Amino acid sequence: MRTLKIDHIGIAVKSIEEASKIYTELLGLKMRGVEEVADQKVKVAFIPVGESEVELLESTDPEGPIAKFIEKYGEGIQHIAFQVDDIEKALEELKQKGVRLIDEKPRYGAGGAKIAFIHPKATKGVLIELCER
Ligand code: ZN
Repeated sequence: MRTLKIDHIGIAVKSIEEASKIYTELLGLKMRGVEEVADQKVKVAFIPVGESEVELLESTDPEGPIAKFIEKYGEGIQHIAFQVDDIEKALEELKQKGVRLIDEKPRYGAGGAKIAFIHPKATKGVLIELCER
């Protein structure tokens, strides 16, 4: 597998409208757009910075994974996403190494990217997302 760059950093927030001001008003970045991923019960806002992005995640459902995350840890960094050249191959390699995965097969995330999560128990507590665009 070839890991190309940090694609984005996923940040769990209670309100995209409120949290985005940190990146736009304080850091001078521009928000690219907001998209709903019904599957994950989230609204996602993208804020590009250089070759990477900040991804703000706001739950649309009190039972959704982001709502649960905030309940447990508060607002903050939720995952780090690495872009890979071939996600199927990457998952296959990790499986062969016995790495615990949340997604055995890629699914479609925001922006039509193919994504999969590695289990944080396998990565010292960091929720790692692989994505292929
Ligand atoms: Zn992500």
